[in-house]
Amino acid sequence: MSDRKHKRKLFLVSGSMTVFLTTLVLLLVLRPTQGWLTLLEDKWKVLQPRFFLDTLAHTQTEGNPERETKTLTYMIDAELDTQNHELKGHVAVTLPSGNYRDIPFYLYPSPDQPMRIVSVEWNQRPAHYRVDPNQLQVKLPVSYKGSPTLDIRFVTPIPRAGTRFGEFNGIWSLDYWYPIVAVQRDGKWIQKPVPKGFGDPFLMDLANYTVRLRYPKGFTWFASGPAVQEISYGSQMVTEWKIDSVRNFTLIGSPTFLKKQWKTADGVDISVASQTDNHLDQLVDVTKHAIDTYTKRYGAFAYPVLSVVQMPEGTVFAHEYPNLALFSRAIWSWGTGERWIAHEIAHAWWFSSVGTYKALDPWLDEGLADYSARLYLEDRYGKERYRAEIKQDWTLFVEQRGYSPRDLGRSIGPITKQTTQPYMSFSEEDSYYYLEYLRPVLMYHDLRMHMGDDKFFAFLKQFYLKNRLHTVSRADLEHALADVAPDEVQRLNLWLDSPNQELIAKVQGDFQ
Ligand SMILES: [Zn+2]
Repeated sequence: MSDRKHKRKLFLVSGSMTVFLTTLVLLLVLRPTQGWLTLLEDKWKVLQPRFFLDTLAHTQTEGNPERETKTLTYMIDAELDTQNHELKGHVAVTLPSGNYRDIPFYLYPSPDQPMRIVSVEWNQRPAHYRVDPNQLQVKLPVSYKGSPTLDIRFVTPIPRAGTRFGEFNGIWSLDYWYPIVAVQRDGKWIQKPVPKGFGDPFLMDLANYTVRLRYPKGFTWFASGPAVQEISYGSQMVTEWKIDSVRNFTLIGSPTFLKKQWKTADGVDISVASQTDNHLDQLVDVTKHAIDTYTKRYGAFAYPVLSVVQMPEGTVFAHEYPNLALFSRAIWSWGTGERWIAHEIAHAWWFSSVGTYKALDPWLDEGLADYSARLYLEDRYGKERYRAEIKQDWTLFVEQRGYSPRDLGRSIGPITKQTTQPYMSFSEEDSYYYLEYLRPVLMYHDLRMHMGDDKFFAFLKQFYLKNRLHTVSRADLEHALADVAPDEVQRLNLWLDSPNQELIAKVQGDFQ
């Protein structure tokens, strides 16, 4: 070997060593707190649905091309005053970019104990506003193009009652407790839907939240996002929660909760809670099976936390909030209780992950959550159980009988309307449950029978993975179906739009 060659070889060896050692030092110095493997795993989780969609998707979702860019943020600082049963708070709301002059907010607490607005500021100056028990109407002094931030101080009285928002038996159920920016459709603000004593009269947009709450020590909280900080101040605690892209921020707290917690294979922190030991193990069991079923059928859950909370009798019936499923302890005596719990957990996929304007299209998330509950029963107890459920559903449907847990099986016909109706057009609970829950369950079953399992579940997976962390409308569901089985869109439309008697006559043959 010549001297020159030898020198070059030495140079290459020492050069490679230097590169190797520098890389090693950089890997050690720059090591993220969670470690490289966890970081790469997290990145893969984010990217994986995209790889998957590339092979599955045939067209892009066309629901709302601007939806990626719209960001609404709420920064809330509040104090829970347990002595006076009040929440005293300050919220800084930053709206997505747009043209603004009048900005309405929905106030959801009961008009009997309405939220009080203390002040509204824009650019550190008092803004003009009008308030009634249902809405806060802010008027900017000039038309503003951009992304305005409004600072609102409010006091929300907390009813001492087992109502959806209230304190009962030591459980503080804090939902829709701050001013919520109204929803626009076709450039116009929608008036707050009037509650009718049933169903969900709620409308709101996805938003990023930072919430800080001061409260007396000793509380356990279940929230729409993970806690990122806890600070103790004498007899008080302050907890800060942070979560992006949720439809609202709900807190359920009590000093008396018993809880069980675990982490799923996907890294989601699951909590199950109740004030008593009764049914707690059973609830853990139902929750685990439901999460497994929905993850397998649709895809991974989109958020880092999910809580399932059993409430005392005399509070909620059963209700979903972002990353929170609630139900009354009385549910175990309904006969259909396990199915309704599975329904509430399914809302974490349909309503939370894939968002809906519930009051405008109740059937969209209710139908999917309720059909999911049948899939839970099928996966857990077998195909025979699924078939028996569908048979029972068909009987209720064709005989036009009540489907709400309160009126199950009671004759309620004739039902003449169709499924596609907003909450606002219903006057009673019976036809709401019949058209918005029961009829869509049979719709999905009928589609499955026509498409076969492979295509049917590809359609639901497609719809889920393409729309996670977005708000969907009927068009998005149609697109997902058209991607997988374009000929079946007609069948979907038949189920959604046909007057009830006409639909029964047309589909009867499929269910004989
Ligand atoms: Zn529901």
